[in-house]
Amino acid sequence: MIRSSGVFLAIVLAAPAVSAAPADLAPIVLPAPAAPGDAVKPFISVPAGKVALTHVTVIDGTGAPPQTDRTIVIDGAKIASVGPASDAPPKDAKVIDLTGRTVLPGIVGMHNHIFYIGRPNFDADGKSDPPLMVPEMAFTSPRLYLANGVTTLRTTGSVEPYTDLNLKHQIDAGILPGPHMDVTGPYLEGANSPFMQMHQLRDAADARATVAFWADQGVTSFKAYMDITRDELKAAIDEAHKRGLKITGHLCSVTYPEAAALGIDNLEHGFLVNTQLDPGKKPDVCPDSDGEPTMLSMDPDGPEAKALIADLVARHVAITSTLPVFEQRVPGHAPLWPRALAVLTPEAREAHLYARNLTKSLPPETAKERATIYAHDIAMERRFAAAGGLLMAGPDPTGNGGVIPGFGDLREIELLVDAGFTMPEAVRIATYDGAVYLGLANRIGTVAAGKDADLLVVKGDPAAKVTDIEAVETVFKDGVGYDSAALLATVRGRYGQY
Ligand SMILES: [Zn+2]
Repeated sequence: MIRSSGVFLAIVLAAPAVSAAPADLAPIVLPAPAAPGDAVKPFISVPAGKVALTHVTVIDGTGAPPQTDRTIVIDGAKIASVGPASDAPPKDAKVIDLTGRTVLPGIVGMHNHIFYIGRPNFDADGKSDPPLMVPEMAFTSPRLYLANGVTTLRTTGSVEPYTDLNLKHQIDAGILPGPHMDVTGPYLEGANSPFMQMHQLRDAADARATVAFWADQGVTSFKAYMDITRDELKAAIDEAHKRGLKITGHLCSVTYPEAAALGIDNLEHGFLVNTQLDPGKKPDVCPDSDGEPTMLSMDPDGPEAKALIADLVARHVAITSTLPVFEQRVPGHAPLWPRALAVLTPEAREAHLYARNLTKSLPPETAKERATIYAHDIAMERRFAAAGGLLMAGPDPTGNGGVIPGFGDLREIELLVDAGFTMPEAVRIATYDGAVYLGLANRIGTVAAGKDADLLVVKGDPAAKVTDIEAVETVFKDGVGYDSAALLATVRGRYGQY
């Protein structure tokens, strides 16, 4: 891609040599909206047109403080203006008085799978029968995401990449309800994976060929996984970059500094899966300890943490915060909201409650360690962001029912606030910062004139009362308003099934 902007050029020159110019994802991830079909129409509460949302509080996604009593004018798929409510709305606009509501940018979810992980016959003691199964949630996930304000997502690893691609195309064509999608290719996993639905890479050539094949099929991002070797990762990074596509990783066999030096664009799960200080860590092998000793021993203000953060920032490696899934590991974590619990199948609900009980009854020493690990991670996420690192967010909905698409994205914002970010900062991490990473910040991620009308309307004032973020009423995607409750009603008792 050739860009004429001098600013863009300066950024490219400062980036590591391994990064290729990124492809323009806008035509693929944010194509022109199609007319809604019969399966989408029942959820539309505000049809496309000229609409004025009056008397709203706006948290605009830039990190700026909330602005009260505003009017947002939507014209077709775009935001036409954002101004004081004292300005008269255009005469031809449909006026919707949103007094007592807050409008935020649509969430840009950066770790948003379309699957559930099932552990067959999972029981109260935590035992289950092999193998781990990863059923695709192509029905529930898109509805759950959209209902909770996620208007753009990255799938961040796929077990059914053809399904994810077809799902994306059907949503874009107006056939199915759902968010905009950056479809990630199949997990780039190495040998000895516990997941039988994943291909196990044989070598670097296989990694390169796998990336090339799936890029040709239309995926727009890649994800390396826990058992990949450095050679395989390097080949995957080079092939992805050759095509202008980015690659992230949930790593274990490869440490964070190793992956950064190889040119990876993004690392998943905050700092929680770095294995650089795990005792007995062998190159290219994922230790059974999975990074716990590294995070337990890494003082967020110590020299190792400082060096790691400086290295990642210098190399422009983004970090995805996935606090909801790690919250599950900390004893005494908050229970699921009743509205969220209601979308689980009876089996998923049972598995979630078993898992929650097991966490609650951990020995005190383990419980303390887990709390320390979590505390170290959130401290490092804050220091990374403060140092200029690009911190993004996603819930990582993966089995046991504790993390649910969409609900998890809202929970992530709450947990970022718990971690010490302000509400506007947390919203920025969950919206604008993801848009920046995707190269789509000129289209999505903030509430501003000229941007796509992807908006989330909540009842209340989340900046004053954090849990108000949960009260999603309407979600606008490309200027069309969707009724959150109507979408949720169709997935009651279904998440975990399909
Ligand atoms: Zn994940």
